[in-house]
Amino acid sequence: MVLGRHLEYLHAYSGADACKIIEQNRDIVVVLLDVVMETDDAGLKVVKYIREDLDRQDVRIVLRTGQPGYAPEESVIKDYDINDYKTKTELTRRKLVTTVFAAIRSYQQIETVNQSRTGLERIISSAAELLEQQTIHGFAKGVLEQLNHLLGDTVNSVFCARGQGILDDIDDLSFYILGQTGLSSILINQKVSTLKNELTSQMVNTCYSRKKNDFSSENITLYLANGSYRAVIFIELTAELSSITQKLVEVFLTNVSVGYENVHLFHKLRDAAYKDVLTDLPNRLAFLQSLEQFSNYHDQDIVAALIDINHFSDINDGLGQDIGNQLLVAVAQRINQLCTDKTNSCFTVARIGADVFGVIGESDIVNPKNLIALFDFPFKAGEQSLPLNACFGLCAKEQARGEGKKVLNQINIALNLAKKDRQNHAVFYEQEMEDKTLWRLGMIRQLRTDFADNRLELWYQPQLSLTTGKVNGAEALLRWRTAEGKFISPAVFIPLAEYSGLIIEIGDWVIEQACKQIKLLEQQNFNEITISVNVSIPQFRQGNFVESIIEKVHQYQVEPSKFELEITENILMDDPQMVIDALVRLKAEGLRIALDDFGTGYSSLSYLQQLPLDRLKVDRAFVTHIAEEGQSIIANTIINLGKQMNLNVIAEGIEEMAQQEHLKAQGCHDVQGFFYAKPMPADEFVQYLKDNN
Ligand code: C2E
Ligand code: MG
Ligand code: MG
Repeated sequence: MVLGRHLEYLHAYSGADACKIIEQNRDIVVVLLDVVMETDDAGLKVVKYIREDLDRQDVRIVLRTGQPGYAPEESVIKDYDINDYKTKTELTRRKLVTTVFAAIRSYQQIETVNQSRTGLERIISSAAELLEQQTIHGFAKGVLEQLNHLLGDTVNSVFCARGQGILDDIDDLSFYILGQTGLSSILINQKVSTLKNELTSQMVNTCYSRKKNDFSSENITLYLANGSYRAVIFIELTAELSSITQKLVEVFLTNVSVGYENVHLFHKLRDAAYKDVLTDLPNRLAFLQSLEQFSNYHDQDIVAALIDINHFSDINDGLGQDIGNQLLVAVAQRINQLCTDKTNSCFTVARIGADVFGVIGESDIVNPKNLIALFDFPFKAGEQSLPLNACFGLCAKEQARGEGKKVLNQINIALNLAKKDRQNHAVFYEQEMEDKTLWRLGMIRQLRTDFADNRLELWYQPQLSLTTGKVNGAEALLRWRTAEGKFISPAVFIPLAEYSGLIIEIGDWVIEQACKQIKLLEQQNFNEITISVNVSIPQFRQGNFVESIIEKVHQYQVEPSKFELEITENILMDDPQMVIDALVRLKAEGLRIALDDFGTGYSSLSYLQQLPLDRLKVDRAFVTHIAEEGQSIIANTIINLGKQMNLNVIAEGIEEMAQQEHLKAQGCHDVQGFFYAKPMPADEFVQYLKDNN
């Protein structure tokens, strides 16, 4: 043994031989070389081979020359880092031993420098890498891997920290495993005690309380701390560490401890960015990230869904935000339960809006039946138990197109349809829906420009008295003639105008046109003609709707009783009291109110009683078959009801004489229909009056 190394002499009898032996034995550290072997410079060739071909700068070389004065070329000594050269006669046994020892010592110094240099290089590069780690587990794993490299040969290692404040959902002070090597990945997030290794637990504890590293020949425990974040690493060794390696490990630890704190701070930031504070669920951003992967999931029948609680803002307003929040937490828990109850758990449950939740999971869990069933029972909020209902938009993996935002949009399309559908509260997204949405957006755009370009017209359909046979009014009906001269039915574009809010501007224009028309008719001496105008719910929702009508009526000096508003029952659906109040004020001004499409809506008779009505309109649906045997019962009832309530009754959609006769017999007051006249432009209507009245 020399300086802790085995000393063994290997012999080579030619330069070529020497090259082979040196190449095969990586642990040769000193070479004694004859310059002259098979050729005069065979030894010099070996030097070149060691330094250049094998790239071994660390091997020490002692050259031996035959005769004194036969010195090797100076350039070789200079270029190839030759330790020494001796003549044969100089090399006595004693001299040989000292020369070899000196060469070995020199080798070791070089090795130490090399080792710490590569170690430091590794520390620098790994610290930079570890500083970029964004998860605690990734960081722990990275630190252990780097330590493994640094230590060379380790067996098992664990990275531990107290659970509280570090791991989500864990609130005790036991040590938990954040990373491991050589053991099993199931251990991650488990207590150190699950290792069933007393020694490890004890060493970890001791190290944590002593706040000091401990190096022994079998294992090392390392203390990692920065700010308030502390951790312990336990590593089993196969051989004792050299003091230089211990130093390197310490340097490494100080370098990465900053990273340990960073990764926690990052985690906190991430939590803030990706978590919903109220329910502790992932938020919209996190849900979007899960959706990025959605269409790429393999072999699984998975579905993404949005759950939108109906009328939640009413609950918030009515019962207070505290109760509202408690309800949301209860809903979150129940949705979560749905997923954890089943063996196959969901991928994600998130809260993506005030009262909107998102779920991604397999279709045997995330399906309309299960989602609807979530709302079968009331939800607890404090002392109260409140029933809630919701709408659901779903999207199956195969239907999803594109990445996160796009998919969310697709589910939203389905959700919006579910909200509008009275029967079906859970709707699956289909490609056609998007096509339809695109079509709708295109139509709305066109409607907007065409309205601005004055392409909308107001036509008039005469209304006649059944008793006198004279025209006593007209219903104003919108017509949209596109630039190509095509007419688009109001049944198509009115819902779009309502949906886009355009109906407010358009409605104002209609009211103004109607006022002008009444004045125009008066100028032509048609003084008894009432004009009916249809109004939609978004118009009522405008704060100043009532005032703006009254203002127009005043501005054009229209006699209010000649101005009739047609409302449908469905207008009452959203906010009956608001509509009733508005109508009462309009009625007080002297305007007339008619209830259109009566019998086709959903309103209750109790609301109808509160409406300040002047007129009931019997819908065309009840008129069409009125002359047929047994088909007149509803029309008859409505006419009677109107008369009982002292209302004027008008029937619309009369196309035949028989229908007119039946209505006359029932005592219906007025009529409107193609049998008399179709809707017509304003000037034609004036002509019509001239011809008929
Ligand atoms: P509505 O208020 O029930 O209007 C009556 C509809 O029945 C009109 O359709 C009219 O042309 C049609 N009609 C009248 N008599 C007959 C008939 O004998 N046979 C048949 N088959 N149809 C008849 P139009 O003009 O297509 O309007 C459809 C709906 O669009 C209207 O139904 C109304 O709800 C809405 N609308 C039209 N103009 C306006 C408007 O200015 N504002 C608002 N908010 N809605 C409007
Ligand atoms: Mg109408
Ligand atoms: Mg109608």
